Amino acid sequence: MHATGQMLNTLRRIVQEVSAAADFNHSLALLVERVREALNTEVCSVYVFNRSTHQYVLMATEGLHPQAIGIHIPYTQGLVGLVGSREEPINLDDAASHPRYHYVKETGEERFQAFLGVPIVHHRQVKGVLVVQQQVKRRFSEADEAFLVTLSAQLAAVMAHAEATGKMSAAEAQPPLYFSGAGAAPGVAIGKAVVMSPKAQLETVPDRHADSIDTEIKAFQEAIQATREQLQEVSKRLFTELRPEEHALFDVYVQMLNDDTLGNEVIEKIKQGQWAQGALRQVILEYVQHFEMIEDSYLKERATDVRDLGTRVLAQLQSYTVKYDFPDNTILVAEDITPAMFAEVPEDKLRGLVSVRGSGNSHAAILARARGIPTVMGMVDLPCKQLDGITLIVDGYQGRLYTEPNSEILAQYRRLAKEEQAMIRGFESLKNLPSETTDGHKLRLFVNTGLTTDSVRSRERGAEGVGLYRTEVPFMMMDRFPSEQEQSDIYRQHLRTFAPDPVTMRTLDIGGDKSLNYFPINEDNPFLGWRGIRVTLDHPELFLQQVRAMLKASLDLNNLHIMLPMIASVTEVEEAGHLIFRAFREVEEEGYQIQMPKVGVMVEVPAAVYQIKALAKRVDFLSVGSNDLTQYLLAVDRNNPRVADVYDSFHPSVLEALDAIVRGAHEVCRPVSICGEMAGNPASAIILMAMGYDMLSMNATHLLWVKSVLRQVSLAWAQQLLADIMVLDNAPLIRSTVELAFEKAGLGRLLNPTKGLS
Ligand code: PEP
Ligand code: MG
Repeated sequence: MHATGQMLNTLRRIVQEVSAAADFNHSLALLVERVREALNTEVCSVYVFNRSTHQYVLMATEGLHPQAIGIHIPYTQGLVGLVGSREEPINLDDAASHPRYHYVKETGEERFQAFLGVPIVHHRQVKGVLVVQQQVKRRFSEADEAFLVTLSAQLAAVMAHAEATGKMSAAEAQPPLYFSGAGAAPGVAIGKAVVMSPKAQLETVPDRHADSIDTEIKAFQEAIQATREQLQEVSKRLFTELRPEEHALFDVYVQMLNDDTLGNEVIEKIKQGQWAQGALRQVILEYVQHFEMIEDSYLKERATDVRDLGTRVLAQLQSYTVKYDFPDNTILVAEDITPAMFAEVPEDKLRGLVSVRGSGNSHAAILARARGIPTVMGMVDLPCKQLDGITLIVDGYQGRLYTEPNSEILAQYRRLAKEEQAMIRGFESLKNLPSETTDGHKLRLFVNTGLTTDSVRSRERGAEGVGLYRTEVPFMMMDRFPSEQEQSDIYRQHLRTFAPDPVTMRTLDIGGDKSLNYFPINEDNPFLGWRGIRVTLDHPELFLQQVRAMLKASLDLNNLHIMLPMIASVTEVEEAGHLIFRAFREVEEEGYQIQMPKVGVMVEVPAAVYQIKALAKRVDFLSVGSNDLTQYLLAVDRNNPRVADVYDSFHPSVLEALDAIVRGAHEVCRPVSICGEMAGNPASAIILMAMGYDMLSMNATHLLWVKSVLRQVSLAWAQQLLADIMVLDNAPLIRSTVELAFEKAGLGRLLNPTKGLS
């Protein structure tokens, strides 16, 4: 077919058009029409696979008899079935002579000899088959095949989304019973969805019914007026700094606002019942799409202008509109949940969290676990914007989300929620009992903290100390770096709550997925970039200030431990050690009589595993950050839902590394703990105990859960289990061996209460 550039343009245009169509049938009709044109062929058809009947349905065709639309083909039949089952393209010059050819009378396809079919595959599942045919006995070219394969790969995501959002009509595809993602914080929550969007991001504004049409129209008009004034003001202020063409842009914006078309379209949508923000989103994005599809590059650029203008109006609108109304059983839903979002919901109303992005190892998930809020993340196919106000069930054990569940499922989960409550109440009685196995092995259980409220909860759960205080969390809650005094006050409160038990404060660990909006770090590869100790060693003023604040806060309490994140080499430890010592001297000179705290490093970069003894000798203790260690060992982004199933802490390489760390640390007589999420999962906690870890540090919510399991097993049993799994060479087998051992010990239900539900 066409030259590469042209092919790309055609592809992009087709995918855009198809995804923009509101109704799925219409988008498929458009698809077959466009592909037939692009390949200059006689027939293009799309068959969609129906998972419940195991049949392909002809959903749209250009070139076959239109009355054939809707016919069903068993998945084992004909060339379409063959393309689907082989999951690869089939390109034939004479279809009828192929042994799998099956003639379907209604289609009138006997006239067409050449056949090219490609499967549409999403997440390893065949969603359908795209077919082109022509009369002449001639194979489609390699370029045609390549074009169709590329198109179908992009189309797959569009189809999966349509299926998930129910845009595909019920006869052709079953909307799923539930959406799947990662179980990020265990527990069951039943409640009402409140969809939150980050401020001034058009794409994430949800649809919402307008309570009062007049109020919404008024808010919109005021926002337009305010945007106009803002633009004129900025344009005036920047008069001398801007080039004439940049000035002209402001004039274009103001003109667009003055022109009634855009505004009237928004008002029209509000009158149909949509709130102002939703109406604005719909209209602006329609315009953007329209401009983006134009081939002229000047006009294409106007898409950016319209989007920018829309965002400005939205920002105004958001400063006018009332705050969210949170029902008593709020389930917070967002494209990308941030810690700041949690903070907006009153604690007693928040029941569950749902995020389209992220995975079980994202920091938002870690905070959710700390607060004990059932959470699912990485719900990639979830039509997030359409959920506001509807009933949801969050199954944080299995990573499932039920939307508008039927009464039977509701009843099942209500019963489970009750059982769960009873189980949690049962744990309470363990609070003051020792964390000791049935054969008398004691394992210290510490907590991970970050939020101020964590410390109180942790004390209530009988934590013996803090193994990881993530100091970046208070930094994330502010809009500038906190001063030394502010930091010191926060740290002292923490140290005092736990004194005389130790509190391990980690120095600022930003970068990766943890950013401060007042200190943006923009990198292509943030997890391999400027993170943790790398940032603070480059900014000794920040590091020194933080360490001084910690030291001052420890006055007379003497329970401070300092821990360094993301250590990859001994020089980093030495440099940080010098700075800590310098801060100590400075604080002493200021008249504080304090003790030198213990200093330790986190083992979370594979390089540290291989230098474990060299590192251990230079510090007082080690703590394994298994979240990052797993990410870096397996080369899998801990936040990326697409590869969430590759992220597995039971991978034999991860277990080998963990084992090597304990042995290395103990050889040079240094204590070693784990503060990654593995410590808070009863199954992995038992394995870590068997390896010889001296202490486990986890979120407060899981502490009694882990203790309850620990008190029901013996160290000898755990060591046998460890020996059994260390000879296995694949993660699923290891996981099932552990699960089976727990089942046999009568502890299966404790690991996963919702397993086996429909
Ligand atoms: C870890 O990486 O395991 C860890 C505890 O640190 P964080 O999750 O804060 O990166
Ligand atoms: Mg880490």
